Amino acid sequence: MPVSYMEINLNALRHNLRVIRQHLPKEVNVLAVVKANAYGHGAVETLRIAMEEGYTAAAVARVEEGAKLREAGFTCPIYVLGLPLPEDMLMGVKYDLTLPVDDTVDLDAFEDIAKGAGKTVEVMMPIDTGMNRIGTHPEDVKPFLKKLAGYPHLHLHGTWTHMATADCKDKSAALKQLDRFDEAIAQMPVTDDFVISSANSAGVIDIPKSWHNLARPGIIIYGPQPSDEMEHKLDLQYVMRIVSHVTHVQTLHKGEAIGYGGTYVADKDMKTATVPIGYADGYPRCLSNKGEVLIGGKRCPIVGRICMDQFMVAVDDSVKPGDEVILMGRQGEGEITLDEVAKTAGTIPHEITCDLKRIPRVFV
Ligand code: PLP
Repeated sequence: MPVSYMEINLNALRHNLRVIRQHLPKEVNVLAVVKANAYGHGAVETLRIAMEEGYTAAAVARVEEGAKLREAGFTCPIYVLGLPLPEDMLMGVKYDLTLPVDDTVDLDAFEDIAKGAGKTVEVMMPIDTGMNRIGTHPEDVKPFLKKLAGYPHLHLHGTWTHMATADCKDKSAALKQLDRFDEAIAQMPVTDDFVISSANSAGVIDIPKSWHNLARPGIIIYGPQPSDEMEHKLDLQYVMRIVSHVTHVQTLHKGEAIGYGGTYVADKDMKTATVPIGYADGYPRCLSNKGEVLIGGKRCPIVGRICMDQFMVAVDDSVKPGDEVILMGRQGEGEITLDEVAKTAGTIPHEITCDLKRIPRVFV
């Protein structure tokens, strides 16, 4: 085993995928949002289990992510969520990805690429109902559809919208967005196989109106609830555990400072241990003098600044080099959850897991 690694619990991943699938009616298909390498958890492994659990498709942010999944052998629809520029279209067409187009996309370039490849490309029509990020506005759907009909190598596969506030306690803005989405859908050529999608994780849990015929959960696959404003209605398990080992133990004498900037000064003689993970691994530097880790099941506070590759914690006399350190997850009776780490770092769980890129992933 490496000294520091990310443990991915495939049983927990399967459990969450199953809980989500069982929460939704059978007639609603579910795709797995595996962008950003499945929020840091490993896209290929996540999608493999999702397929076994009855998921019908995948969503990624970028064409390169979709290409990697195709190269790993997946034949399901792979939806790219980010708008393509002409440079992306070629790869999207080559790998048979389903790309989004709105009324700002260069359809001439896209048509030429599709025609050149001898393919009819499946395209999705994102609708901007209030997120104000990408998508055609409901009032512009008709002219856009008319325009799209002039491109014989682009086939309209379906539509989606994205809710900005589905994870808030007050669902009124999200419901308004869904009403705007209904206005847009009413203008579309809806057949039985026309895909309609708006449920992110929060929508899956709390907003049946958003389910349509394809749900798009991301974060709940990996264990956290969508936000702490929502009731914990689904029984989810954290999938990621971050493990390291003590490399060095020493005495810090009263009055001595530790680490860059000398931001922590010992007020009495104390023991410190050094842990070989740092901000270059994606462990947030803002946890300096704030975060905690587990050693021997007990909480040990971080002392001094987190360095690029190491940080130090206050420990008792029992700790020695080689001892296991848990930055996130359970150890004995103790647990430091992903939600706790995110909260202490002043961010959301998504950012924490996406950033942990340098340490190897170990699947258990
Ligand atoms: N759909 C789109 C368009 C997204 O951008 C995202 C994530 O950012 C998702 C679905 C999944 O969202 P969540 O992780 O909240 O389920």
